[in-house]
Amino acid sequence: MTKIIKILICASLLSLINCGGTADSSSSGATTPTNPPLVTNPESGTILSTQCDGTTQIVEVADGQGGTTFESTENSEECGYQPVLINVVRRQADYFKPAIIKVESNREWVYEAQAGNVTETDTGLEITSDGQLGVHSIIIEGEEFEYEFVEPPLCQHVTSGYDKFDCLGYPVGGNASSMIYYGEEDTQVVTIEVGVARSTTYCDTDCADGTPVPQDNFNRISAVKGIQELNEFNQRNNVYIRFELTEMVWLATWYDLYSFGPPPFLTEMSDVVYGWGGSGSVGGQALMPRSIYPAMRTPTPVGRNGPGLGTFAHEIGHAMGLGHGVWGMPDWQYGVTDLLQQGGSLFPQFGHGWDGASPRGACGPQGSVMSYGSGALWTNSLNSCEELGFSAGNWGDAAGSRLQSDEAYHLNRVRYSYSLIHNEHSDTEYSLKVEEDENYYILVND
Ligand SMILES: [Zn+2]
Repeated sequence: MTKIIKILICASLLSLINCGGTADSSSSGATTPTNPPLVTNPESGTILSTQCDGTTQIVEVADGQGGTTFESTENSEECGYQPVLINVVRRQADYFKPAIIKVESNREWVYEAQAGNVTETDTGLEITSDGQLGVHSIIIEGEEFEYEFVEPPLCQHVTSGYDKFDCLGYPVGGNASSMIYYGEEDTQVVTIEVGVARSTTYCDTDCADGTPVPQDNFNRISAVKGIQELNEFNQRNNVYIRFELTEMVWLATWYDLYSFGPPPFLTEMSDVVYGWGGSGSVGGQALMPRSIYPAMRTPTPVGRNGPGLGTFAHEIGHAMGLGHGVWGMPDWQYGVTDLLQQGGSLFPQFGHGWDGASPRGACGPQGSVMSYGSGALWTNSLNSCEELGFSAGNWGDAAGSRLQSDEAYHLNRVRYSYSLIHNEHSDTEYSLKVEEDENYYILVND
């Protein structure tokens, strides 16, 4: 600014004085006064021109002697260079919650991560664990940053007398392991991988055990549609689970749950495998696990109906530890009143369905998925009957109760550990396998 003002003043006084102290020597000693040529060299340091060569800025500067020098600046923002600003927002990560690295740049940038599953996002990078615990590094544009893989947090169970409670004080089944938990505000949708085996009664060609059901086969189209419907139902009921079909295969017709043996490749790639076909003399059968933990034996419920609402949702619910619950007992209370039907195996206070005559149903006359009522909703103490399109029920406008029936809360509490029955995040096999016996399961029919 100073320089500009000075130049302006000089320009206005040009006819009177010699600006800048570079006196013109040609006038000295002249005997005949003539008009001396007014040659004024720009003051030393005056910027004469500015150009860009790529992102290098080249500035031409006067040396005060009539000559110039050039100064160049590489990676000049004035020549369009965009610096990459990198900021590690969250350093720790596990299978579900990523390390977050913010990368701000308008140009291409490259990275190389040492470990983990890297996702490029609108704001930079997210890295989730692939099972390799500890500190790892990522190089972004030649700069190194660290992130760390840790075990997912657990809601620890505590024993008090003969009873066991979770970290929030809810009673839990005596055999239940502590499960992965990120707090009450957590609404992350978790993928649960479902395999389906279809009885060959409905197969015409290529019906050998384990043969994938073709994409255009009616049974498969129906299964995909049914899973989609259940996912929409989950979303409506704030159950943060998305079921995903891993594979659907033919299997020689079986009689019931105990004779249902899906091929190992299907159980290995899935968190749960559903047998669509024989289920004894009832509509569906499942074993309720008394504990849910990563790498446990893959649950294999069966049912006569294909994937979707109704039997499939109900049997998967059992295979996730939900029981049938209460029929027409508005004042039912855990530990005081017996359930009319089987309770859940993990959260005995609320891990089961609810039904009852209007207005003592879950919402008006509606029963929940795990009851034998209309199956119109997953009970959820945080949902509104009105918003679901129902009239008020046993808990007024609340579509569930943490003291009587809250299927959604149960499902949300078990979803992370359940989704690690098959761990799709890691190639590393779990080295710790827990011995299992039938005491860990409870058979439920229908
Ligand atoms: Zn049932």
